[in-house]
Amino acid sequence: MANVLVVAEVRAGELRKVALEAVTAARQLADLSGGGSVHALLAGDAGIGAKAGALAEHGADSVLVLEHAGFAQYNAEALAATVAQRLSGGTYGYAVFSATAQGRDLSPRVAAKLGRGLAPDLTGFTVDGGVVHGQHFNMNGKTIATLALAGTPALLSVRPSAFQPTANAKPLATEAIASAQDPMASRVKVVELKQGNTGKIDLGDAPVIVAGGRGLKAAENFKLCEDLADAFGNAAVGATRAVTDEGWRPHSDQIGQTGRNVSPTLYIAVGISGAIQHLAGMRTSKTIVAINKDKDAPIFKVADYGIVGDVFEVMPALTAAVKAAKAQG
Ligand SMILES: Cc1cc2nc3c(=O)[nH]c(=O)nc-3n(C[C@H](O)[C@H](O)[C@H](O)COP(=O)(O)OP(=O)(O)OC[C@H]3O[C@@H](n4cnc5c(N)ncnc54)[C@H](O)[C@@H]3O)c2cc1C
Repeated sequence: MANVLVVAEVRAGELRKVALEAVTAARQLADLSGGGSVHALLAGDAGIGAKAGALAEHGADSVLVLEHAGFAQYNAEALAATVAQRLSGGTYGYAVFSATAQGRDLSPRVAAKLGRGLAPDLTGFTVDGGVVHGQHFNMNGKTIATLALAGTPALLSVRPSAFQPTANAKPLATEAIASAQDPMASRVKVVELKQGNTGKIDLGDAPVIVAGGRGLKAAENFKLCEDLADAFGNAAVGATRAVTDEGWRPHSDQIGQTGRNVSPTLYIAVGISGAIQHLAGMRTSKTIVAINKDKDAPIFKVADYGIVGDVFEVMPALTAAVKAAKAQG
């Protein structure tokens, strides 16, 4: 039995979906290790404690609330110091982070402070005799390594969307905590946060992604992807590197090895060949639909459903079909 500390990611004063995924993973970890407690660390500006309920609903036994104006934006130094301080108290067997841009920054800082290893970007895990065995994609997903985490606390991060947020309600219990160091004295400060991708929903949070490739031929034809995304209502538009290199979409929309890692419930690849570097960022999506006029395009090897056809014919028909299905409820 071991307790788990999980860092709940906040952006612009809101809990991110990845926070609920991380708490779900932490709950699984605690249960697999024989039923320890899950403590979620929630840091933000004054009032962030109001978000604690969602963490309890997803399995946190206790929410450690850190409210301070110095945490209104992600504060790497002070948060790393606070998490490390908590973990060094001997209370925790494991710590869970999200493998997001923020988590990829925070978790190694904590690991370095504690002098411990870190198993990053796990898509699943088992626990054997208290030792976590985590699955980690290597070589753009061509192989899956199993990482065994020796010693305590064992630090790991979980890939966004690899763990679906699961309701597992616990009575809400909160504890106000203080920062381990003055957050106002941090040497690095986030002064502004700009919405990166052009869509209404962040790629990392969207349950549906409509991603376009060079097969769309021109920037203006991305309207086909936007129309389909709008028809779904909960979708974001992504792109390949060929597209972002052409300047048809901003780099922040790029999915793949040198772009975003996504794992939505539904990924629709529109005029995308399926290069290994693109697959690296999306192959863990739950259901993949590919539309390509070349029946031998590599994307069909990872697709659950394939449409061999011209995107300029298929996309309007698909959008109309989604709208019709939505209209029927
Ligand atoms: C170090 C490195 C890192 C990289 N990182 C990334 C990355 O992060 N993300 C990424 O995406 N790529 C990355 N790449 C680039 C990658 O190798 C590919 O070049 C890129 O993914 C191809 O993009 P694409 O599928 O849009 O274009 P293409 O490979 O040109 O494919 C276009 C597809 O559209 C189809 N098509 C054409 N017209 C139509 C039509 N009318 N209807 C239907 N289908 C049509 C074609 O059959 C073709 O399959 C990286 C490359 C390197 C070397």
